[in-house]
Amino acid sequence: MVSSGRELRLEVDTDRCIGAGQCVLTAPQVFDQRDEDGLVALRTAQPPADLREDARTAVELCPAGAIRIGAPGPA
Ligand code: SF4
Repeated sequence: MVSSGRELRLEVDTDRCIGAGQCVLTAPQVFDQRDEDGLVALRTAQPPADLREDARTAVELCPAGAIRIGAPGPA
């Protein structure tokens, strides 16, 4: 089995999120927006390898800096 890069662990900060939805547009399988207020919700904190690039792009594009890449979890 081929390992396809490092684990990625995402953290979101709903206090910073402004509900711009950029993350959901960029990586809809990773991010969602809460029905009640439109703020970010994670579909998965540890996206599989094929979604990690989109997740990283979403981190870069978030206008509020509300998404962070945390320390990798245990292997
Ligand atoms: S892109 Fe950033 S500000 Fe916009 S919904 Fe996602 S986390 Fe919130």
